[in-house]
Amino acid sequence: MKKSFIVILIALTLLAGLVSACKSAPPAVSPDPAPATSTPSPTPTSTPTLAPCDHDWIEASCDNSEICSKCGATGAPALEHKWNEANYQMSAFCLLCFKDEGDPLTPGFVEHGMKADKKPATAYPYVTIGFDQPEKTIGEVTLKEVSVTDSFKDNAALDGYEFLSANFVVTFSDSVAQSNGARWTYSNLDFYTFDPAAAIVYYSDLKDSEIPGFTVGSKPINYYGIDWDIHISFDANSAWSGNSLNLTLNYTFMVPVDYDGVIITFTNSALILDKDNLKTGDLLDDDSLFFRLRG
Ligand SMILES: [Zn+2]
Ligand SMILES: [Zn+2]
Repeated sequence: MKKSFIVILIALTLLAGLVSACKSAPPAVSPDPAPATSTPSPTPTSTPTLAPCDHDWIEASCDNSEICSKCGATGAPALEHKWNEANYQMSAFCLLCFKDEGDPLTPGFVEHGMKADKKPATAYPYVTIGFDQPEKTIGEVTLKEVSVTDSFKDNAALDGYEFLSANFVVTFSDSVAQSNGARWTYSNLDFYTFDPAAAIVYYSDLKDSEIPGFTVGSKPINYYGIDWDIHISFDANSAWSGNSLNLTLNYTFMVPVDYDGVIITFTNSALILDKDNLKTGDLLDDDSLFFRLRG
């Protein structure tokens, strides 16, 4: 009886142990599958697949390379400037983009420190010499009028040209002029191409122009980088009026339209008296008068 009791007791204990073991064992279930969103993956919009750009190219310029106006892609590189040389009227500039650089060429008159500052309608003292004796005489020169016309004595100006006329009056009335007369020397110079080392060419040595009464200057003028012949005509008349010796001088030039480089100079005849092979600079001294007809 007692033995039987023990057995039961053991049995009860074992059962209890079994129950306990069942409670502490891991649940006999299969693991859940990982959710699709548990592993981060790139968002679809960051890896596009687009059709290639049908480029709309904006041409290259001196400042920018060729560029597509739609996508900003760049093509041909920027151009190199194509410089046009400076001339007396314009600084150097790029023929492609019109950027300019530097200054126009320095006019010869400026380069040599000369001033053509005499104005119309003003009498300026003119130092020269008597005709019979090389004594100093002082007269007066006045630029009466400057005019511009398309025709001259029934002749139309050539294409691109116009006529530029100037009328001067020169008078002498001092005692030297009254007893010896007077010599005068006038010439035309060019403001831009002026060169004191250039040989003097006399009007009588110039060749005839196709405009009647005109001769072609010995050296072309340069206007906007292009050489132009200058055509020259003048007539001079002198006469005594009482005690006054009067010279009227009418100059007409056929020049490129708006050309402003013509200068008339009156100089002392003593500077050229009995001299040969003169240079332009030999004609000029501090008393020389320079009238720039425009500008
Ligand atoms: Zn594009
Ligand atoms: Zn350029």
